[in-house]
Amino acid sequence: MANIFFVLGTRPEFIKIIEVVNELQSKSNHKIKLIFSNQQSKLIKKYMNNNIIHYDLEIKKFKNDSEFISSFLVKMEKLNNKIDIDYLFVQGDTNTAYAASLFGFFKKISIIHLEAGLRTFNIHKPYPEEFNRQSISKITNIHLSQTQSSKQNLLKEGIDKKIFVVGNPGIDYLVKNIKHNKIKNKIIKDSILITMHRRESLSSSLEIFIKNLKKFMKKNLNYQINWPLHTNPKILRNIKDNFKAEDNDNINFLKPQKYVDFLKLMMSSEFIITDSGGVQEEAAYLGKKLLVARDLTERIDIINLKLGYLIMADGSKLEKIMNYFNKKKVVNKQNTLKWRKSQGYGKSSKKILNIFNKNLE
Ligand code: UDP
Repeated sequence: MANIFFVLGTRPEFIKIIEVVNELQSKSNHKIKLIFSNQQSKLIKKYMNNNIIHYDLEIKKFKNDSEFISSFLVKMEKLNNKIDIDYLFVQGDTNTAYAASLFGFFKKISIIHLEAGLRTFNIHKPYPEEFNRQSISKITNIHLSQTQSSKQNLLKEGIDKKIFVVGNPGIDYLVKNIKHNKIKNKIIKDSILITMHRRESLSSSLEIFIKNLKKFMKKNLNYQINWPLHTNPKILRNIKDNFKAEDNDNINFLKPQKYVDFLKLMMSSEFIITDSGGVQEEAAYLGKKLLVARDLTERIDIINLKLGYLIMADGSKLEKIMNYFNKKKVVNKQNTLKWRKSQGYGKSSKKILNIFNKNLE
């Protein structure tokens, strides 16, 4: 029996670990506890019932990455004096995941990394996530990769520790929520859902993306956009500065949506334009017409399967890809099925439970 501490602080971390936590808490002998960093306090409050958290590091005020990471390390030192940690479980590429792994490295605590091996191979895109995930891999003991291609990336980097291909427990959460809430895939023609939040886009490309989007919308009045805005104040300012009231007839700006409401929006949309990692995975799983507003993506299988198309962070290929889809191009069903298989059909957490029962003492 091991003491496993899950560390989380952001919305996607919650969505991707919660089914693993539920599975292990109900069906394993391991002791499962959650440590919360507070990295995205505003976004995550909508999702999380506070009583699932066992330890709150309460990092509430931080102006930059250095403040967040240093504060995380100091607070973990204090917490570690009071508790006995066998494994730190981290997800993805956030500063919370990076700081927790670094702490584990300093203390010689084993790290389990979920979503291991995603790569763009460009340390600045996405920023700081690509650096975070590459660094976490160097100090991880058990790598849980979503797909075979992620595993290959790790092997190429000479990683010889345990690597397991487990699918995507974020998709477990999606499948469960669709079923429980009986959400139907009723598509509203010409509806577009947008999410944008990448930090590296904020300096200039988001502004150009907005120009390209407005140009496209002016020429194509049939489209209707739903755009839940991220809480990042720089994004909100960018939107405020670049959209005037008359631009907004066909655009519905929304607050960050609760997961089930966002799921309903995804299901009813014909097109999804996003720079988000998780939304790319979910949109491809749902077989949506997916435009990836990035120069590069680490979800390269989605591009290779032609389930998503890169339109660049500045949206310079938005019009071209929308026109491509409108020439009656539908998403390739066979490839959607391949993607669904690789994501584990909603049974990824069960796979992780079996791995832990066999491999952790
Ligand atoms: N999401 C949500 N409400 C929203 C926008 C996104 O619940 O208004 C969910 C979405 O379904 C996905 C996750 O949040 O599971 C993606 O989070 P985000 O884009 O912040 O992070 P990333 O996936 O890029 O790390």
